[in-house]
Amino acid sequence: MLTEAAYLLDQAGIKTMIYNHQLCLIEPPAWSFSVKSISDWKNGYHPECASCAVAERCGGFFTSAKYKASKHIKAIA
Ligand code: SF4
Repeated sequence: MLTEAAYLLDQAGIKTMIYNHQLCLIEPPAWSFSVKSISDWKNGYHPECASCAVAERCGGFFTSAKYKASKHIKAIA
C-alpha cells in the first residue's frame, strides 16, 4: 500500500519522500523514496541492525523510541 501510494504521488509529479522508516518494514521498490532524516545525535539502531547489509542507508530509529520497535525488524542479507 505504501509503495503504491509513493509511486502514485511520484507519477503525479509530487515530490515523494518516506521519512523515518526502517527499510526492512517497507518493500524494496519503495526504498528509493526513503529518506534518512533523523539527526545523528538522536538516531539509533536496533541490535538486529548490526548484521544488516543496508544499515548505512536505513533511517534507523529515534533513540527516544528505543524501548519500542516492531517485532518485524529483521536484518537484510
Ligand atoms: S535491520 Fe535495522 S538497519 Fe536493517 S533495515 Fe531493519 S531497521 Fe534498518
